[in-house]
Amino acid sequence: MKPATIIIHAGVEPDPGTGAIMTPIYQTSTFVQEAPGKNKGFEYARSQNPTRQALETALAAIEGGRFGLAFSSGVAATDAVMKLLAPGDEVIAAADMYGGTYRLFTKIFEKYGIRFHFVDTTRPEEITRVCSPNTRLVWLETPTNPLMNISDIAAVAAISKKTGALLCVDNTFASPYLQNPLQLGADIVLHSSTKYLGGHSDVIQGALVMNNPDLREQLYFIQKSCGAVPGPMDCFLVLRGIKTLHLRMERHCENGHKLAHWLRQHPKVGKVYWCGFEDHPGYAVASRQMRGFGGMMSFELKDDSVETAKRVLSSTRLFALAESLGGVESLINHPATMTHASIPREERIKNGLSDSLIRLSVGVEDADDLIADLSAAIG
Ligand SMILES: *Cc1c(COP(=O)(O)O)cnc(C)c1O
Repeated sequence: MKPATIIIHAGVEPDPGTGAIMTPIYQTSTFVQEAPGKNKGFEYARSQNPTRQALETALAAIEGGRFGLAFSSGVAATDAVMKLLAPGDEVIAAADMYGGTYRLFTKIFEKYGIRFHFVDTTRPEEITRVCSPNTRLVWLETPTNPLMNISDIAAVAAISKKTGALLCVDNTFASPYLQNPLQLGADIVLHSSTKYLGGHSDVIQGALVMNNPDLREQLYFIQKSCGAVPGPMDCFLVLRGIKTLHLRMERHCENGHKLAHWLRQHPKVGKVYWCGFEDHPGYAVASRQMRGFGGMMSFELKDDSVETAKRVLSSTRLFALAESLGGVESLINHPATMTHASIPREERIKNGLSDSLIRLSVGVEDADDLIADLSAAIG
């Protein structure tokens, strides 16, 4: 089956009790058992819930994987992956990734004796350079947030395999419609379902997808034991969001293309970061491993003062000034003070994230209206 059909039908069976075509919101904490140990596959809603189960089936199907697990947030999903590790284990991760992932790694897991190497993962040789017998996990984000750097998933998967480390890819920015890391050799795919999967900025949730049954058992054990599970209402919202993923992503790509090209020719705009430009350093790899370039981009103004950036950020009317991304409505963000404030300034600057960088999550509105809004704000 083709992606559009999988996206609509994945995980959704008519409700066995009533025939309801949409998965009901099973708002219950427990399930009555016929006799001790005899039940319908559901015992207690931290361990299993039918709405969550439908969503987990859908997550696996749309990523082209075997197993899906849903978590109460994207960082809860990251936290679950980290709990596969033990003190002394080493992790190689991208130097410019989502600030919350960096915070979780350095502020929480370093304390527990996990060692992190942050490298430029767009250069696979950098990963090889810091590999050691203790490397247990390689963490990729591609495209990265907010500089839209592209890492070669297949090349990094080959290195991880040789090292005997797991490869986890944060696929939030691309969504399963544009990129499927498991097919390129990754072991685990992570999503902040809060973003494109939910798609309507009305839920916080995370997801993991994997093929290996042992890995699924370990991660399910962590999900159940640590308890960061999403509620059934939120699972319903993500299931509902997924049904239009392909339609939304196509429009995000179309609008992203128009806005990136418009920004690039604007006399007051400096560098534009969007992986669909042919002269973007990751263009060849992105064209190979992605089906489209999406609606995420960042740009700098030629006048690179923070004040000018702040003026633009406060003057848009359609683009709402807010953290997050991937919803139907367009958002504008200042990484240095918002999404990436948890990364120390020296680290940020070293990784090319300037104080004046502006990030856009281009929504699915009319592209001409979005351009007019930015045009008025930039002046
Ligand atoms: C938002 C985000 C996360 C964290 O997800 P939450 O749902 O906010 O916990 C992780 N990775 C990326 C790339 C994100 O954009």
